[in-house]
Amino acid sequence: MADVKESRVNQLDAAALDEELLSLLCGRVNEALKYFKAGLFTSIGPELQALLKLVVWKLTLYSNGSTIGQNLLNLEYKHAESTCSLSSRRAILFAFFTVGLPWLKERLEVLVRPFVAAENMSKVRDGVEWIETTIKLGNMLNFLIFLQQGKYCLLSERVLHIRNMSSTVQPLRQVQYEYMNRELLWHGFAEFLTFVLPLINVHRMKNILWRFIFSRKETPTSVETRTYADAATCAVCKKWPIIPHDIGCRHVYCYYCISSNVLAEEQFRCPSCGVRAKGMNSLQPVSVISNPLLTG
Ligand SMILES: [Zn+2]
Ligand SMILES: [Zn+2]
Repeated sequence: MADVKESRVNQLDAAALDEELLSLLCGRVNEALKYFKAGLFTSIGPELQALLKLVVWKLTLYSNGSTIGQNLLNLEYKHAESTCSLSSRRAILFAFFTVGLPWLKERLEVLVRPFVAAENMSKVRDGVEWIETTIKLGNMLNFLIFLQQGKYCLLSERVLHIRNMSSTVQPLRQVQYEYMNRELLWHGFAEFLTFVLPLINVHRMKNILWRFIFSRKETPTSVETRTYADAATCAVCKKWPIIPHDIGCRHVYCYYCISSNVLAEEQFRCPSCGVRAKGMNSLQPVSVISNPLLTG
């Protein structure tokens, strides 16, 4: 027996692809049937679904020995011991597990109703529920064993002794460590930045840098020397000041510009003349009328 294990991821991917395909098909069929009278097809819903599954099974697993998901991932079902292709007997049994059993679960109650007395129906219902729970438990156990051993992804595969095996010989997949290292490094760096950045007073750093680059002789000014040009431009954003305020020098700021700077740095210095603010209390609203230079 050639014990070449297919990767668990590929086997799970194949199963997930098959499920996805089936739900897509069901969605399409429902879309096509929505123009018929409401409720016409809901009574035969389980039969329709079983029919769809059977058609898919006939065209894929029965004819080629692999489902569509397996085909995409270069897998196929083979007998676990002899590694020969899936026999049609096993394919039919597989269809019974994947198509017949779910349909039977939906319809058992209706099927046995003529033969069972009305008072015993609850027992039938309990029985169905019990079997369903047992199968679910079996599935869960099977999945745990699959994760450990890497074969028989589905319970039906274990029962039928069929395994996902590669249909072609594939080279081993190489993991690109340079790429992974780079990803890890960037991730770590981004996390470090999100931790450190809130601790840095960006406003203050920017102001210090600005003063350093454009260092010039700053002579402190006073409110009395304010000109029309000073009152018409915010000293921070160089635009028309919105809700104008000052901090005691001749320059005027938008309330937003000056308050955000003073909140970040209590002793914010006027970028034009270097006068220091003394906290939020030093912010004064500017009234144009009160300034004789401006009105005159
Ligand atoms: Zn401004
Ligand atoms: Zn100033």
